[in-house]
Amino acid sequence: MSTVLYMVVPCYNEELVLDETSSRLKKKYQSLISAGKISEKSRVVYVNDGSKDKTWEKIMEKHDEDIMFSGINLSRNRGHQNALLAGLMTVKNMADCVISMDADLQDDIDTIDAMLEKYEEGYDVVYGVRDNRDTDTFFKRNTAGVFYKVMQSLGSQSVPNHADFRLMSERALDGLEQFQEVNLFLRGMVPMVGYKSTNVYYKRGERFAGESKYPLKKMLSFAIDGITSTSATPMRMIFWTGFVVFALSIIIGIYVIVSHSIQGRTVLGWSSTMAAIIGFGGLNLLAIGIIGEYIGKIFLEVKQRPRFIIEDFINDK
Ligand code: UDP
Ligand code: MG
Repeated sequence: MSTVLYMVVPCYNEELVLDETSSRLKKKYQSLISAGKISEKSRVVYVNDGSKDKTWEKIMEKHDEDIMFSGINLSRNRGHQNALLAGLMTVKNMADCVISMDADLQDDIDTIDAMLEKYEEGYDVVYGVRDNRDTDTFFKRNTAGVFYKVMQSLGSQSVPNHADFRLMSERALDGLEQFQEVNLFLRGMVPMVGYKSTNVYYKRGERFAGESKYPLKKMLSFAIDGITSTSATPMRMIFWTGFVVFALSIIIGIYVIVSHSIQGRTVLGWSSTMAAIIGFGGLNLLAIGIIGEYIGKIFLEVKQRPRFIIEDFINDK
């Protein structure tokens, strides 16, 4: 029996790209089905993440035209990571393997063949890794580079230059289900699931139509989420910074007492005092900010809010 492949495609205000994405995916599915690589029961599942435009209507239209297309409608916008998880968790026991992909065709559809091949070879997780960043702005290219360096130095096992274009087997998804966290950073979580994994490389293209749903502000908060939901090292760094500063202050304190009482010099100038106040004040605020970030995370985790709520699921088996 051939592999049942489901694709999960989160969509937020993507009415402009859905026609093209659907026709390219359909072509790909048809060729894979006729080559006997995937079963006819394979589906493409669009997850509508509370779009404000006609995305959901478009998805239903696609489903009416061809049962190859299914749709999940979330009750409201929850962000890319939650939408993706909603899709993965909904379909995980309907398929042998699931590939997640962006709607905007930046991920190269032809990579699916290579991913399936790796799956057949026995890999449970196949990461799509972009082999260049030519299509990114200078700014995004460099900030992304710094981000992956920081992530790695903090002990994260996330795969550099891998977004959320990846294949996961049914049992890898079952593993992912056991991660109950609310602060989602899937590319940091998937490596923690384990199993045999590998990379396939592809060239990431330009967004087909519409504009990026990740403006700078969202990108920064995603990066901070990524770091603080993967690693506690920044908190430990605060501890060590505090430790070093405290040790230094003891030495300076001794120096001040000695120079004041024994040598009788009063050298306390305004500038050095100001520098110390501003410096330590800034350091304190920074430290409190980092701790606050973790406390905010704990706050959200203890609440155990649902990660997504599904309003509709249209699927023909
Ligand atoms: N997306 C989503 N919910 C959101 C924002 C984005 O489901 O709140 C989807 C979007 O439709 C796309 C994918 O996430 O399929 C990646 O977004 P985008 O292409 O805008 O990000 P970029 O490629 O610019 O980083
Ligand atoms: Mg994109």
